[in-house]
Amino acid sequence: MSFWVEYPFLSIPLYRSIWKFIDFLFPPHCAGCGLVGERFCPDCSHQVRLLEGQICEKCGEPLTFLQHNIQECNDHLKSLKMIRSFSFYQPPLSLAIQKLKYHRDIGIAEVLAIYLVELYNKNKMDIDMVIPVPLSKKRLHDRGYNQSFLLALPFSMMINKPIKKQSLRRFKDTSSQVGLDRHERLINVSEAFIADSDEVNGKNILLIDDVSTTGSTLEACAKALKNAGAKDIVGLTLARAVHTRNGFSDQLNDVVTAQNF
Ligand SMILES: [Zn+2]
Ligand SMILES: [Zn+2]
Repeated sequence: MSFWVEYPFLSIPLYRSIWKFIDFLFPPHCAGCGLVGERFCPDCSHQVRLLEGQICEKCGEPLTFLQHNIQECNDHLKSLKMIRSFSFYQPPLSLAIQKLKYHRDIGIAEVLAIYLVELYNKNKMDIDMVIPVPLSKKRLHDRGYNQSFLLALPFSMMINKPIKKQSLRRFKDTSSQVGLDRHERLINVSEAFIADSDEVNGKNILLIDDVSTTGSTLEACAKALKNAGAKDIVGLTLARAVHTRNGFSDQLNDVVTAQNF
């Protein structure tokens, strides 16, 4: 089923017009600095820099980081071809992501999706469909929406690829990831997803999520997709948590990422 069949009346100009109209009725505040009238003002937007320089081919982490072990990374991310993230999880991008996830500022998703398009174009990916990382039924019910879907929808329209959110489901409500290391996180989320082989068999798939910490969630999704016959699977996220000698640099990163589950 193509994107236009699933969302027959939606196009990116229409989607943007809807948000412009909502902004006119309810003027937004910048998610980074609070400026009235902008969802993410030009000043904040310019502060979000694309990760550049030498990166790990597998997980996309800059190789300047301490203790990055490429062999461990390959062992950990067996089902994923690669993960790429636009920037580090730090203000103002982290503030915008928190607003999207916890403060119902869903209009920011369309603005942030532009970063994903830039990342996608830079990496010249050959994909057949876009799938947002699903939430469990319970989490979806509690939050009311899936932030990854809100990012993936305008993104898929902008790159003109179908979005297939029903092709991957999360049937297990996994416990918090806080305090778990990379291996424990992977065990925690493994077997939490199931994919529809009729939709994904033989296909190249792009997974979308807001933040990656160890990549365990994306890997668990990729494993389910592989089990259903998918070909190559790539993960794209807005931000990645900063990995240091002592674990993740900012405990908030862990909390925020853990609340995905
Ligand atoms: Zn701002
Ligand atoms: Zn790596």
